[in-house]
Amino acid sequence: MKKIISSILGFLVLSACNTQINENLSLDNEDLSIQSNNSFKVVQIKLKNSKDLVNLATKGLDLFGFDSKSKTIKAKISTKEEQDLKASKYDFSPVAEVNMSSRGLLPGYMTYNEMKNKLKQLADFNPDIATLNDIGDTWEKTQGKSPNNDIWCLTITNKKVKNQKPASLFIGGMHARELAPPEIMYKLAEYLVKNYGKDSQVTELVDTRDINIVPMVNVDGRIKVEQGNNWQRKNTHGTGVDLNRNFDSYWNYQGLDVPSSWIGSSTNPNSETYSGTAPASEPEVQAIQNYYKVKKLNLVLDMHSYGEMFFWPVGYSDKPIPEVNIFKNIYENSFKKIGYQGGTSMTLLYPTTGTTDDYAYVKHKALGLGMEIGQSFRPSYQEVESMWNELRPNLLYLIKVSNTTLTRK
Ligand SMILES: [Zn+2]
Repeated sequence: MKKIISSILGFLVLSACNTQINENLSLDNEDLSIQSNNSFKVVQIKLKNSKDLVNLATKGLDLFGFDSKSKTIKAKISTKEEQDLKASKYDFSPVAEVNMSSRGLLPGYMTYNEMKNKLKQLADFNPDIATLNDIGDTWEKTQGKSPNNDIWCLTITNKKVKNQKPASLFIGGMHARELAPPEIMYKLAEYLVKNYGKDSQVTELVDTRDINIVPMVNVDGRIKVEQGNNWQRKNTHGTGVDLNRNFDSYWNYQGLDVPSSWIGSSTNPNSETYSGTAPASEPEVQAIQNYYKVKKLNLVLDMHSYGEMFFWPVGYSDKPIPEVNIFKNIYENSFKKIGYQGGTSMTLLYPTTGTTDDYAYVKHKALGLGMEIGQSFRPSYQEVESMWNELRPNLLYLIKVSNTTLTRK
């Protein structure tokens, strides 16, 4: 009975949402409104000092697009959050998000199904160096829904060279609405497979490294975006879990001495940074964590958008880890050259925990790296092409240095 009542309630809520969406659609500038169950605004907030960013993040605001030059950050805020920002005397104004008004994917982008087929084609193109593996199910698939929603990993390495090679893992699509990273990850895979035997740098990397690429982790969320829910970030379990807060590394700041205010947003299921009910509760996160049992991963890069930043561990602290110079050196030889900011999440933005990159470093002593690329969630495909050209030499450099081992004092 309870179930029936909640379904009826659910239906009523959904109906109410539809009304809301339809009303919002009639607004002139729909970029500034719309989404699932509440109307909201996108605003740009002026930051007075570095504490502002931490305060905003720990309030649980959906923050993105930090600009270090103008000292501004954007947020998607509800009416209640808007009132709270006003009461707290923040200086903010509405802004439009690039390409948000066209629903679903933009021209040129591949759907999840197209990506799966293209990865299969790469594996078929040169089976001596490329293998496609299903490394796990999404939440929906584990629930008996969406039977085709698998997480795919393309491994690229010269199979004839039998000795164990330094293994790296490149991840995209952890957050569904961030459209560029899965495309960049696919392009990296394609570039390596198609240029093997033609380009000496690529050939050497494929002969001497074990490169693993997962272009799309959050497949369920991604399909929501393809269906027009442009703002979907989390997976689709309940109100959604932020996969990049669900990893088993100081999950919810457990075991860390941090202010209690930091914990609120990660334990609120409605927050965009909700970390789930337990460490690695989500099957998508389990798929990635289990891959460490398949391969001894030495470097893991998790690519997000947007903001042009390069992160190293640990996200919850601004105190340097013992091996910080190894990370700084990698940064200075790569993404710093294209103007990316480098540091921990805490030094560049705000504290994070339970992230993919922290898990790599804390639990496996791997080079755990994170990135924010580009200047919007939804760049045109031409922009993705130019981002790829700029990022490519630096991603190849990461593959090259994936043999770096972290030595601890
Ligand atoms: Zn992200």
